[in-house]
Amino acid sequence: MKLILFGSPGSGKGTQAVMLGEYLGVKRISLGDILREEVKKNTSLGKEVKQYMEKGLLVPDELVSRVIEEHVDDSGFVLDGYPRNLPQAKRLEQILAKKKSDIDICIYLDIDEQTIINRLSKRRICKNCGFNYHLQTMPPKVADRCDHCQGELIQRRDDTLEVIKKRWQVFFEENRRILDFYRKKGKLVTVDGHGNKEAVFEKIKATLS
Ligand code: AMP
Repeated sequence: MKLILFGSPGSGKGTQAVMLGEYLGVKRISLGDILREEVKKNTSLGKEVKQYMEKGLLVPDELVSRVIEEHVDDSGFVLDGYPRNLPQAKRLEQILAKKKSDIDICIYLDIDEQTIINRLSKRRICKNCGFNYHLQTMPPKVADRCDHCQGELIQRRDDTLEVIKKRWQVFFEENRRILDFYRKKGKLVTVDGHGNKEAVFEKIKATLS
């Protein structure tokens, strides 16, 4: 199964991609995570992409497409965070065609802006293991400490209100074109992204079956 999980920042696609990858027995490829790791390690790619990520802007297509090319193959995957615009969607098609492969399905997690702002501005992440918390709906047992590894909880640099709004705007401008692209190919399904992660996952599973 080669699947794209598409949705705005904060739609829950990262969480669902992990669950779906385990459920289907395929790897999850999260472009955002890969880029954050490059920034953390201060690699040459990390240095280039940092400035865009901190402002909530898309990293240039050429840079991210090269990263994706290294990661996708015909063995199956859940792709999270790519494509994010029409040129990337077309590029992905070419990359996969070279590997005699193609996308099976694109799942769109549909969610409104206010829910996004609420989710992202109160999101905290363990610096150590990456586990996600929400200050209201899923707070840690001890303030600022991870329940699993006691690591320090931090706010992502791009989870501030100003940057969240920018990220939403970037998403909103591009999403219609991507959705149209996969709809025309008969590969698009839309899933309501509201509700807790288990409820959304059930909806995705129902769609797949
Ligand atoms: P995410 O974790 O998916 O919200 O991505 C965090 C940031 O990484 C985005 O705001 C962009 O700056 C960058 N990024 C992630 N995926 C892409 C992509 N497909 N194209 C360009 N930039 C991306």
